Amino acid sequence: MTIVTTDIGLVAGALKRGELVAFATETVYGLGADATDGRAVAAIYEAKGRPSFNPLIVHVPTMEAAMRLGQFNANARKLAQAFWPGALTIVVEKTQDCPVSELVSAGLSSIAIRVPGHEGARKLLEAAGVPVAAPSANRSGQISPTRPEHVLASLEGRIWGVLDMGPCEVGVESTIVSCLDDDAELLRPGGISREQLEAALGKPVRTGSSDAHAPVAPGQLESHYAPKAGVRLNATAAREGEAMLGFGTVDGTMNLSPSGDLKEAAANLFAMLHALDATGAATIAVAPIPAEGLGAAINDRLNRAAAPR
Ligand code: AMP
Ligand code: MG
Repeated sequence: MTIVTTDIGLVAGALKRGELVAFATETVYGLGADATDGRAVAAIYEAKGRPSFNPLIVHVPTMEAAMRLGQFNANARKLAQAFWPGALTIVVEKTQDCPVSELVSAGLSSIAIRVPGHEGARKLLEAAGVPVAAPSANRSGQISPTRPEHVLASLEGRIWGVLDMGPCEVGVESTIVSCLDDDAELLRPGGISREQLEAALGKPVRTGSSDAHAPVAPGQLESHYAPKAGVRLNATAAREGEAMLGFGTVDGTMNLSPSGDLKEAAANLFAMLHALDATGAATIAVAPIPAEGLGAAINDRLNRAAAPR
């Protein structure tokens, strides 16, 4: 059911059609989807069985492609120049016309971008011609795959195919640096060390956190989007002054998926929360979402949004 191939053109075509494909980078095998296609990105979460939406890293073949997605300030440019292509992920603000689905950044205005050092990976990205969102190609909670066999053991039958590019070299995740502020912040240690980053920037690099579950100390990044409005869950109808986010037959100001399709709902979730938040309503009422499959991750996000702040 899941294809294993060495044909880059075939896999690039599948990516463009919205299929899920695993491919090697120098770190681990990634589970890739067209980052501009919300349903394809939702399918990543479905295949992995991820219980929550954490922002994903977007892979592109060149700095030029990266600059269409993100706004590179002086720090970001220095780091890209020093370490790309390579095992460094840089978090920057999205461009005004960034074509990437809101689901990729889980509603944030920033985006994590990487130009991988693996030449085959860059060939695939070049051939696909779309930015590719990719977490590690394994079921949630399992270890990261460094060989095609590992990917199949975890995801066989759940994804379209695997581009067989042999074993990965590094086996360690990419270093993640945020360049949203004037200071660069190390969000996740990885293949490239803090000392290397500091040498390239000519100044110290602070430690931040991209983990929303960790206590957020001053200066650390809160990496999860929350609407300004209050959120009321399991609503069957809007009350006075509420904006209503519907699902299925429970309709609203907007509807996550009139047909009750959870993949469509996941693809629409953040964009619709943003749009309803922008109406200035004090509360967003949300229709009940079934708990199975992608519904778990959707409900996780909604529960966080509804929690007292
Ligand atoms: P993984 O999917 O395991 O490669 O992990 C991706 C990592 O990138 C997670 O730790 C995310 O929190 C982090 N990340 C992705 N996008 C952003 C962003 N816009 N801001 C901060 N962290 C991000
Ligand atoms: Mg992983």
